[in-house]
Amino acid sequence: MIGVLALQGDVREHLGVLDHLGEPARPVLVPSDLGGLSGLVLPGGESTTLSLLLASSGLLGPVGDALAAGLPVFGTCAGMILLATGVLDGRPDQTGLGMIDVAVRRNGFGSQAASFECDLDVAALGPPPVHAVFIRAPLVDAVGERVEVLARLPAAGQAPAAAAGSPVLCRQEGVLVSSFHPELTVDGRVHRYFVEMTKGA
Ligand code: GLN
Repeated sequence: MIGVLALQGDVREHLGVLDHLGEPARPVLVPSDLGGLSGLVLPGGESTTLSLLLASSGLLGPVGDALAAGLPVFGTCAGMILLATGVLDGRPDQTGLGMIDVAVRRNGFGSQAASFECDLDVAALGPPPVHAVFIRAPLVDAVGERVEVLARLPAAGQAPAAAAGSPVLCRQEGVLVSSFHPELTVDGRVHRYFVEMTKGA
């Protein structure tokens, strides 16, 4: 059973993809919802709001404990920011879970108007390319040596040239993060990849 943190953001879309894959999933609203999960998804939304809601809901500690105990986790966009060990241009009161050794810059591609879509080659998923939607996405500034970069922005074409080659899908053991939104496309392969991670854990 995969849990989807259901405090804010595109929760329904993640549940929809997992349902489409035939994978049992449920929303996580209170600490007791974490019981018996094999994996957790942190959705896109707004990381500053999510961080406040994690604290006020009493979930911050229990989620942190579950991840520290090895529960596989997949964070998309704002979820990636929550999982990063370093956040640039965050709010001073923003807290995170610090589970993957990447530094991300919030809204690093610019404002909502600078949102974009592009096709990514992801060797771990094989062909065809993954169509990726970036919405006020975090820009990965640095990755630690234990981080496996599964996809980078293409060198030219639809993606912002200044960010060419920057990592957009990364993994460190049981932690998977994407700066784009695989829950907004019908592909399903990135979620399938995460589901396989939860089965290997
Ligand atoms: N910019 C948002 C943040 O800081 C993330 C946007 C998203 O999840 N689509 O959390």
